[in-house]
Amino acid sequence: MSNTETAIASAEAHSAHNYHPLPVVVASAEGAWMTDVEGRRYLDLLAGYSALNFGHGNRRLIDAAKAQLERVTLTSRAFYHDRFADFCTRLAELCSMEMVLPMNTGAEAVETAVKTARKWGYRVKGVPDGMAKIIVASDNFHGRTTTIVSFSTDPEARADYGPYTPGFEIVPYGDLTAMREAMTENTVAVLIEPIQGEAGVLVPPAGYLPGVRELTRERNVLFIADEIQSGLGRTGKTFACEHEGVVPDMYVLGKALGGGVVPVSAVVSSADVLGVFKPGEHGSTFGGNPLACAVALEVIAMLRTGEYQERAAELGDHLHRELGLLAGGGAVETVRGRGLWAGVDIAPALGTGREISEKLMEERVLVKDTHGSTIRIAPPLVISKEDLDWGLDRLRTVLSA
Ligand SMILES: *Cc1c(COP(=O)(O)O)cnc(C)c1O
Repeated sequence: MSNTETAIASAEAHSAHNYHPLPVVVASAEGAWMTDVEGRRYLDLLAGYSALNFGHGNRRLIDAAKAQLERVTLTSRAFYHDRFADFCTRLAELCSMEMVLPMNTGAEAVETAVKTARKWGYRVKGVPDGMAKIIVASDNFHGRTTTIVSFSTDPEARADYGPYTPGFEIVPYGDLTAMREAMTENTVAVLIEPIQGEAGVLVPPAGYLPGVRELTRERNVLFIADEIQSGLGRTGKTFACEHEGVVPDMYVLGKALGGGVVPVSAVVSSADVLGVFKPGEHGSTFGGNPLACAVALEVIAMLRTGEYQERAAELGDHLHRELGLLAGGGAVETVRGRGLWAGVDIAPALGTGREISEKLMEERVLVKDTHGSTIRIAPPLVISKEDLDWGLDRLRTVLSA
């Protein structure tokens, strides 16, 4: 057996089969490229679902992590540490908000947002105890905890995990009227992705996000933007909400915040909202640890200059222009997205998204399918134009075969 076959057989024998990875075993990576255990190089057009916005082994981020590793890595929140204040201050600044509550994974940050909204509802808005409702959108992806899958509309994510957490109202994504009708005096928050990533990079109709903003403000409801995948440069702006000139009440961040090095997530909001927590009412052993703060501080510094956002916007225009040309040719049905982020619906006759992903892998390009015949393209923002064009060439080859 090859190294690849041995590694896969062993992984399949000893790990739960909750994923169906492409049959490639990565041994090292740099920038937009990964090398497998056979020494083959692949262009990474997934970038860890945006966790790798700054590429593999980014020098600045690795150096920041290494320096911090030598000083102090973990204190728990029982004590302050000397990177914590900076991290919270700089992240709040980047978001033009006031307060930060750090966690680790995206799902934990979404859970934190849910808890914050409920507590705010009871303590500030005056909702009767136990009655708080949060409005979410169909086809959402906010994570995998029991509460979060309770308001998923994806049967695969949800089946067999009941009993489900109550208190959520699901309305069609992009439908303002349905959202308005679902709102009651007990609604405490609307939780949506400004662009739905897992659903296939769905951009809502123009005016939807401003409409949600207006409606939530009118009804004293928190607008929570899950920017875990869409945020931090991916769409050509720091936040996807900015494309529509919208500022939510709360950002939920994760993925790229950890620079592809460590899991770092956070809820960022106003002092009125995050001020609802008192000591002991919420927490995380690892949340806001020194290593996480050191890496995230470097991520924030990199985003502050705007250069990555600009790059994503420019290369994104190029990507969408090229994909648009493919869309005319019959092999591609629809292309959606913003910046360096695209959902590409392949004509079903050419194969499932999985089959296309496997063929692209043979051409040394790594992507991930989502539902049905959709593949998503989300390279690290540091990818060169030449590499992106090379990847697009491989895509054309696969689609014309
Ligand atoms: C990935 C993702 C999450 C969950 O993040 P994890 O770190 O996997 O828990 C939540 N929301 C969105 C929009 C995501 O893309």
